[in-house]
Amino acid sequence: MDGAPARGRAAWLTSAGRALLDLLFPPVCPGCGRAGVLLCDDCRARIQMIDAVELREPPARLSAIASAALFAPPLREAIHRFKYDNTRDLAGPLAAMMAAGWPRLGLAADVLMPVPLHARRLTERGYNQSALLARGLAQALAMPVDERTLIRRRHTRQQVGLGPEERRANVADAFVCRGAVRGQRIILVDDVCTTGATLEACAAALADAGAASVQGYTLARARWLPGQPAPDAAPTL
Ligand SMILES: [Zn+2]
Repeated sequence: MDGAPARGRAAWLTSAGRALLDLLFPPVCPGCGRAGVLLCDDCRARIQMIDAVELREPPARLSAIASAALFAPPLREAIHRFKYDNTRDLAGPLAAMMAAGWPRLGLAADVLMPVPLHARRLTERGYNQSALLARGLAQALAMPVDERTLIRRRHTRQQVGLGPEERRANVADAFVCRGAVRGQRIILVDDVCTTGATLEACAAALADAGAASVQGYTLARARWLPGQPAPDAAPTL
């Protein structure tokens, strides 16, 4: 039996099921609790956009980390809900924020690649939040997105609660490149950047495989960057 119609039906059922869920349990703004909106206009206006780029020097394989906004309330709550509470629809407004910041960043890009999840975590969560962001961003920028070439081959602990050295050790050699990237200028897409250890580990795999350049673009930046507004509260995610 051809699998395509079955997949089509499944997609339709999923979308109908979600519409029904929205009707029974309307979305609630993660920032203020207002009912009926994914992320209300007031909370959107409170998100501290930074459009910051941190340049990194060799031996870093990642040449830059850009971020759209500061990891602080109410974006922190929105990302938490997006990531841990199955609220996939937040990908739309969150990717739109990344698309809005993009023109000011000056990143050199041929293709977007989301930071991959290990197959085990993907099964647990049901989706890769970074892939949803990358797809939304790719659509807005009319750029290709590649979700197959970069693989997380090792299941790693969550980076939450680890120091910079522990983070580096936790993700060292966790990623592998399984495709042709020679000469490509790659933008890694992730939800939150804290120290950049995960992005750096991804960049190492891609640079070893011949990528021309690897830069990261994240929705949020957890650490305060010089010259940028200080966060309202210390990140806890
Ligand atoms: Zn709100």
